[in-house]
Amino acid sequence: MSTGKNSIDEAALRTTLLEQRAMLLDRVRRLDKDVHHREEPLPADFAEQAVELENQEVLEALDEDARQELRQIDRALRRMDEGSYGECATCGAAIAPQRLQALPWATLCIDCASLAEKGAP
Ligand SMILES: [Zn+2]
Repeated sequence: MSTGKNSIDEAALRTTLLEQRAMLLDRVRRLDKDVHHREEPLPADFAEQAVELENQEVLEALDEDARQELRQIDRALRRMDEGSYGECATCGAAIAPQRLQALPWATLCIDCASLAEKGAP
C-alpha cells in the first residue's frame, strides 16, 4: 500500500463498471423503443401534442446522457486493458482511489476535472 495506485481494487471496479454498463445498455434500449416508436400519429389535440413533443425531448436528453456515460465506461474499461487505468488522462497523476470508488469511469484527477469543468464551453 505504498502508492495510491496499488490501493485500487481494479477487479472490483471492473465489476462495478460492467454492471453499470449493462444497466445503461438496458436503459438505452428501452429509451430507444420509446423515442423511436414514431409510427403512432401525434394526438389531434394541440395541448396533447405539446406534451407529447416535450416528453420526446426529455427522452432524447436521457438517451444522450446514458450514451455519454456508456462512452466513459467503455473508455475506463479500455484503460484497464491498457494498464493505464487510474492515471489522469491529462496530467498523468494517480487519480485518488476514493474518487475512483465514487466514479469508477473517471479519467481525470480531481484537479484536471475541475479545470475541465470550468474551461468547458
Ligand atoms: Zn490531472
